[in-house]
Amino acid sequence: MVEVIGGSLAGASAALELLRRGREVTVYEKTKFPRHKVCGEFLDGKAVELLGGLGIEGARITETALVWRGVEKRFALPRAAVGISRYRLDQALKEQVCALGGVWREEAGKAHAGAIVAHGRKPVSTRGERLFGYKAHFAGPVNEAVELYFEGVGYTGVNPVEGGRTNVCGVAKEEQLRAVGFDVDRFLAGQSHVAKRLGGLERRMDWLFTGPLFYGPVEETVGYPCGDALSFVDPFTGSGMLGAVVTGKLAGRAVAEGWRREQYMRECAKMLAPAFAWSSVMRKALNWPGVPYLAKLMPAQVLYGWSRPA
Ligand SMILES: Cc1cc2nc3c(=O)[nH]c(=O)nc-3n(C[C@H](O)[C@H](O)[C@H](O)COP(=O)(O)OP(=O)(O)OC[C@H]3O[C@@H](n4cnc5c(N)ncnc54)[C@H](O)[C@@H]3O)c2cc1C
Repeated sequence: MVEVIGGSLAGASAALELLRRGREVTVYEKTKFPRHKVCGEFLDGKAVELLGGLGIEGARITETALVWRGVEKRFALPRAAVGISRYRLDQALKEQVCALGGVWREEAGKAHAGAIVAHGRKPVSTRGERLFGYKAHFAGPVNEAVELYFEGVGYTGVNPVEGGRTNVCGVAKEEQLRAVGFDVDRFLAGQSHVAKRLGGLERRMDWLFTGPLFYGPVEETVGYPCGDALSFVDPFTGSGMLGAVVTGKLAGRAVAEGWRREQYMRECAKMLAPAFAWSSVMRKALNWPGVPYLAKLMPAQVLYGWSRPA
C-alpha cells in the first residue's frame, strides 16, 4: 500500500498513476473537497492531455496577452488550454481516484520515506519583501484569453473558467495590500488597465488570499516529493499545475518501479531546472523599463514554451 500525502493535483496524479499500474493507494487529504483555492486556474493544454479521460470541462483558452501599462504582447497558445476552477478540478481528480479503487482519507498524513509527498507549498517565513496571492470569480462577458497585467514584481491574471465565470487572480507585495487593508477591489481600482478590463464584470465571491509565497525548490527531505512540495514556480507562468501533474505521475511511476529517491530527484531536476531558470530570469526582468518592448520582439516559444517543464 502506497501512502500519498496531499490529494490535489500532484497527489491525485501520483495516485492515478499507481492505481493504473495495479498498486493499492491511500490518499491523505486534510481538507474537505470541493473547496476553492487561490489559483489562476489556467490549465496548460499539455496537463489537459496528461489528465486525459477525466472529462475536464472548463472554458477554452486559445491566446495570451501580456500587458505592461499599455504595452501589450498578444499571441496564440501553441495548444488550447482550459480554464477550470480548482473547486471542480480537484473534486474531479478525487472522484477518479476513488473510482479506480483508491482509498481517500480526509485527514492529515505524515511524510515518510516510502510515501509520495504532495502536500503543496510549506508555509515559509520569508524576511524582507513578502508576496501574497489573491483570487475571486466574476460574472460578465468572457473571452478566450489569459491576460496578465504586470505591475512591478506583481501581476493580475484574468481568464475564463467554467460556467461563464472569469477568474481574477494575482500576486502583490504584502505592503501594497496592507496599504488598502487587503481590499483587493480598491487595490485593482488603482491600476487603470486592470480596472478598465474588469469594468463590465461583477465579483461573485469573497477574495481569497494565500502566502507568503516563496519561489524555487523546497527542501523536502523525505519520500518522493512532487508538485509544489518539490518546487514552486512563478505563478505568472501558469505552469504550476502542469508541473504538479508531470512530477506527480513521475513519482507514481518511481514508486511503482522501485526507483531510489535519488534517481527520482535527478529525473525531476532534469525536467524542471531549465524552466525554473528561465522563469526566474523573466521575474527579475519584469522590473526593467525596456522589458515590454523586448517582449514584443520575442517569439511565443521563448515567452511561453521555455517556462514549462521539459
Ligand atoms: C496566486 C497563484 C496563482 C496561480 N495560478 C496558476 C495557474 O493559473 N496555472 C497553474 O498551472 N498554476 C498556477 N498556480 C500554481 C498552482 O496553484 C500550484 O502549482 C498547484 O496547485 C500545485 O499542486 P500541488 O498538488 O502540488 O499542491 P496543492 O494544490 O497546494 O495541494 C496540496 C494539497 O495537500 C493538502 N495537504 C497539505 N498538507 C497535508 C497533510 N499533512 N496531509 C494531507 N493533506 C495535506 C492540502 O490541503 C492541498 O489540498 C498558481 C499559484 C498561485 C499562488
